[in-house]
Amino acid sequence: MNGKARTHISQNEPLLFELSSPGKRAYQLPPLDVPAADPQAVLGRERVRPEIENFPEVSEVEVLRHFTRLASWNYAIDLGMYPLGSCTMKYNPRINEAVANLEGLLWAHPYQPESLSQGCLEIMAALEAALAEITGMDAVTLQPAAGAHGELTGLFLIRALLASRGNPRKKILVPDSAHGTNPASVTMAGYVVENVPSCERGMMELATLERMVNEDVAALMVTNPNTLGVFEQEITRIAALLHERGALLYMDGANMNALAGIARPGDFGVDVLHLNLHKTFSTPHGGGGPGSGPVAVKRLLEPFLPVPRLVRRQDGWALDYDRPQSIGRMRSFYGNFGVMVRALAYIMAHGGDGLRKATLDALLNAAYVRKRLESYYEPATPAPTLHECVFSDARQARHGVRTGDIAKRLMDYGFHPYTVSFPLIVRGALMIEPTETESKLELDRFVEAMVCIAREVEEDPELVRTAPHHTRVSRVDEALAARRPVVRWRPPCGK
Ligand SMILES: *Cc1c(COP(=O)(O)O)cnc(C)c1O
Repeated sequence: MNGKARTHISQNEPLLFELSSPGKRAYQLPPLDVPAADPQAVLGRERVRPEIENFPEVSEVEVLRHFTRLASWNYAIDLGMYPLGSCTMKYNPRINEAVANLEGLLWAHPYQPESLSQGCLEIMAALEAALAEITGMDAVTLQPAAGAHGELTGLFLIRALLASRGNPRKKILVPDSAHGTNPASVTMAGYVVENVPSCERGMMELATLERMVNEDVAALMVTNPNTLGVFEQEITRIAALLHERGALLYMDGANMNALAGIARPGDFGVDVLHLNLHKTFSTPHGGGGPGSGPVAVKRLLEPFLPVPRLVRRQDGWALDYDRPQSIGRMRSFYGNFGVMVRALAYIMAHGGDGLRKATLDALLNAAYVRKRLESYYEPATPAPTLHECVFSDARQARHGVRTGDIAKRLMDYGFHPYTVSFPLIVRGALMIEPTETESKLELDRFVEAMVCIAREVEEDPELVRTAPHHTRVSRVDEALAARRPVVRWRPPCGK
């Protein structure tokens, strides 16, 4: 401790290795009352290490307190707002967790026979039906484990349909405002990405697409509302144009929090879309936990959906593998079942009217934040925006302060940063999505923090440029951390 007094409330936690002292044990067992076996003899020499280098030796309570103290450092949705744009980080009611933890659901095993899984299959069928209704589509697969996985599944479906018509075609059109996973999924599905430029208001224009859609184009992949939070106003005419020319319309549904209960993609011409259950429909995300990216399709794509398909037979629910046109399996078993349970609990607890109200509150909250910040930060588009708002750092950049600096300063005010430098079409983007779960009180606190920072940028830009100042770790060298990560602990010299 470098000669300083050891304070009991030290906020900085050493590594577990540094708490180690030789001979300490985290357990106590009674003495053996049978002859001791030699582990090497029982398990084989190659499976037993003579010694584990630098293995930390600590007591039980030391281990427990170490990890409890570390856990208290986490920023969490239970602690404060996550204004992280494009992520829909909302608070999810505890009732969804309670339902997912019901014994029969929690301990259900994927190898259980169908006859003993009827309840689980019924839940999946109910969720498929609910998602089909919310999106205005005809059939849903729950298999994909994330949004990007859903994208890949959807693109495979498009390829399979077009191939069955004789030509899978070569290109997928992707607007310049797209999430990075879109072009990546296109490439993985064996297609070539062609970039669609947005107009100044941040939307696609029919005229541009009229020039671009030819026999090589398999589909347009669009996020709607897009990553500027702007609804693509020409979407129905764009869909008609694609269909006329034998192409399909894929929608990235990560932004369904702006539409659920109000507008249905199936009604504005979408042929296939994925949803992120871990964004729009409960399940907290961002903590590395499982996700779920169901794919919803119109009738013409249904024969190609992944196997197995859930079907209703006379004696109950069954899994159908006999689907000759299917693209095959996209994931082992049935997808992330716990996430599905939470989604269905969320949808049923809200009901149709409740989902609509949640969406309207999300839009209202984003409009409120945009209106209150507009005189301090430069809006990215004059067009009206829905569930999120995007600013650029143009006004702050004149003082040498960029979006990343403002985000780091926001941590000093106790907030998780907004999304930094995305979408790429906005230089120095600040992307903010408050979601419906934040109260006006919390939104006001957030806005006040942002306004204070805008003033600091004018009065003392250095303060913002060197932030954060009140966190445990101050600014790290991000380039060095990425290029030369130190991921192994080594004892300090001389120890
Ligand atoms: C989050 C997101 C994705 C990717 O979803 P994952 O579940 O993280 O794979 C794709 N598109 C958009 C617009 C998103 O916000």
